[in-house]
Amino acid sequence: MKTLEDALKGRVAIVTGGASGIGRATALLFAAQGAKVVVADIDGPGAEDTAGRIAAGGADAIAVQADVSSPADCERVVRTAVEGFGGLHALFNNAGIIRRSTALDLGVDEWDRVMAVNVRSVFLMCKYAIPAMTEGGAIVNTGSGWGLKGGGNAVSYCASKAAVVNMTRALAIDHAGAGIRVNSVNPGDTDTPMLRDEARQLREDWAAFAADAADRPMGRAGTPEEIAQAVLFLTADTSSYITGTALVVDGGGLA
Ligand code: NAD
Repeated sequence: MKTLEDALKGRVAIVTGGASGIGRATALLFAAQGAKVVVADIDGPGAEDTAGRIAAGGADAIAVQADVSSPADCERVVRTAVEGFGGLHALFNNAGIIRRSTALDLGVDEWDRVMAVNVRSVFLMCKYAIPAMTEGGAIVNTGSGWGLKGGGNAVSYCASKAAVVNMTRALAIDHAGAGIRVNSVNPGDTDTPMLRDEARQLREDWAAFAADAADRPMGRAGTPEEIAQAVLFLTADTSSYITGTALVVDGGGLA
């Protein structure tokens, strides 16, 4: 019987957006479960900070400053894992950005940037990572509740996350034969710097925002650690027959 104890022992994992929020919590959990972790983020010092926390806990990590919308950077992140740790077994495509705008007030460049960071990144990281997963592997992509339903005033973000959810299904079908599972984790509102920024922009008091009963039946936002546990489940062998699925972790928000 497989358990989640040391679930990633001996595995090499890449986490994008690992400098903050959900990515950082997942990088720390992966390391605690035995993985060697490449922490990639456009925020170099933030990635170093996460890698330093992992090293302080006695596990192995390498920080890479990288823009996941760049093909060369994505290729370098994968090369770092293979050359630094001898292989690749797990990939968490999690880096993402949000622009709160309707189609009327969103600039064309802003649309392109959201698509590049949220969608092209998943394609690019998979393009370079999958050939490196020579023993099979598991990929988790961060979608969103807003990839499964609409949301107001975030037209590019909603489009980008729906693309991530369906790209995940396509990747799962294409690479199942190579022993690679691909799933999306779809968080509801989660207490990270991204969401706190949003609350600030909407000029909402955080406590009132986090408790908004209409969106959050449980009366609170999720924590990055709660999302990380779902990512661990989808990455570890305990989910060995799950691929192409969209796992929602939102305290009942979508319900
Ligand atoms: P966050 O802002 O705390 O972390 C995002 C990280 O991505 C940051 O460290 C940032 O530097 C990095 N990043 C941004 N652009 C990058 C780029 N071009 N290249 C490399 N790294 C880049 O936010 P978070 O809430 O932890 O978000 C993580 C993921 O979860 C995102 O994909 C987000 O869309 C998704 N999500 C978040 C929520 C939420 O409520 N927080 C809900 C649903 C989905």
